[in-house]
Amino acid sequence: MLSVALGFIAGLVAWTFLEYVIHSWLGHLPKGKILISSEHLKHHADILYFTPLALKVRGAVPVLSILLLSTSALFGLAVGLGFISAVALGWVSYEWLHQSIHVNGPTNWYSRWAARHHLHHHFTRPNHNHGVTTPLWDLVLRTYERAPRVRVGRRHVATLPWLASGLNAGPVQPAFMADYDVI
Ligand SMILES: [Zn+2]
Ligand SMILES: [Zn+2]
Repeated sequence: MLSVALGFIAGLVAWTFLEYVIHSWLGHLPKGKILISSEHLKHHADILYFTPLALKVRGAVPVLSILLLSTSALFGLAVGLGFISAVALGWVSYEWLHQSIHVNGPTNWYSRWAARHHLHHHFTRPNHNHGVTTPLWDLVLRTYERAPRVRVGRRHVATLPWLASGLNAGPVQPAFMADYDVI
């Protein structure tokens, strides 16, 4: 049981790094020359475009399989199963949080921070804030930029269905006034 728990904790940390690697090194650095990158840049061009689930699953299965095989070979099956469960949980949580930031908007202190952090990446600094669930690796790799307020261009307001009371040019909803400026 301890082995599963240790594997799980290691898997959670590993997921946060994998999230950074997928977004920054595979999503942005190749500038559209590989599938992950072209899909991610499509999301930047059309913020409500998300890679189809089937394609995500096709990419995730081999990654999870390799991680399970390698961690089990090195540390035993219990550690491997704990590790892979945490990576899978982190991955699903990341996908849910990312879509929720764009589609539903913030609902609590954590999603409020995550939305500011990620939307600052979209609208102001695409080379910063690659972590979505945590700023950990942005801080370690010096790509973190604090986003106390997010500046959203007027033409992007309609892509955040929760932000303003009217499409395109309506005023920012009172709940989000402290965090967002429409410019
Ligand atoms: Zn996004
Ligand atoms: Zn990005």
